[in-house]
Amino acid sequence: MKHTINVIGMGPGDENLMTKEALEALDNSELIVGYGVYLNLLGDRFKDKEFYQTPMRQEEKRCRYCFEKAIEGKRVSLICSGDAGIYGMASLMYELGREYPSCELKIIPGITALCSGAAILGAPVNHDFCVISLSDLLTPWEKIEKRLKLAAEADLVIVLYNPSSHRRADYLKRACDIMLEVIEQKRPCGYVKNIGREGTEIKVCTLGELREKNVNMFTTVFIGNSTTGIIDGKLVTQRGYPIEVEDRA
Ligand code: SAH
Repeated sequence: MKHTINVIGMGPGDENLMTKEALEALDNSELIVGYGVYLNLLGDRFKDKEFYQTPMRQEEKRCRYCFEKAIEGKRVSLICSGDAGIYGMASLMYELGREYPSCELKIIPGITALCSGAAILGAPVNHDFCVISLSDLLTPWEKIEKRLKLAAEADLVIVLYNPSSHRRADYLKRACDIMLEVIEQKRPCGYVKNIGREGTEIKVCTLGELREKNVNMFTTVFIGNSTTGIIDGKLVTQRGYPIEVEDRA
C-alpha cells in the first residue's frame, strides 16, 4: 500500500474559506508541514498536531520532509495558502515524488487569492483573464514583461500575484508602466491586502493611480479589461448579457 501525502490548499487564511475536504484531511493528519505564516493561521482546531516549518526559499527541504515522514508511517499533510497548484507546492511535490515511489499525492484544492480577492472587490474576473506573478525569483523579468504586454494587448483582465516585496519595491510601478503603453490611465483597477486575514484592506483605483501605490507581498492586484466599470464602488467586468431595461413608468 502506498503512503498518501495530502497537498492541501488552505484558502486565504480564514477557516470559513477552507473546504470541508481540506479540514477533514487536516483533522486526520498527525503531521502538518508548511511555511510558518500559514501554520500560524491554522486555528486552535489543529493545536494538538505536530507542525514542521521551513522558511521561504527552503521549499525543497519542506517537501522532502513530507516524503521522509510519510515513509516512516506518519499521516502527513503539506499546506499551501490559496490553492496548492497555483504558485504552490503541488508541482514540486510531483517532481520530487519521482524519488519516492512508495508515496502518492492527494491534491486537495483551495480558494486561490484570485477568487477570494475578486469576491471582495465585486466581480472583476467575470470574463477572460490571466494571472501573472511579478516575482522574478524563478522567472526572468523579460518574460514577465512580455506576458504583461501581451495580456494588455489581448484585453484580458489581469490579476497580479506577488506584486511586491522588500527586494522588489518598485515592481508594481514597472508593471504598470508596461501596461500603460497599451491601456489608458483611467482603466479601473483594484487590490486587496490580507484577504481572509486580520487587517484586510481594499482599494479601487485607476491604472494611473495604481502605479503610485505601495503594496506588500500579501496583496493581490486586479487590472480591469475594456468593459470593466465601477458599480456602487465595486469593480465589475461585464459578461456581455443584454439587459432589458423595464419601463416602470
Ligand atoms: N497559492 C496561493 C498563491 C501563492 S503566491 C494562492 O492560490 O492564493 C503568493 C501571492 O498570492 C501573494 O504575493 C499575493 O499576491 C497572493 N495572496 C495569497 N494569499 C493572499 C491573501 N490572503 N491576501 C492577498 N493576497 C494573497
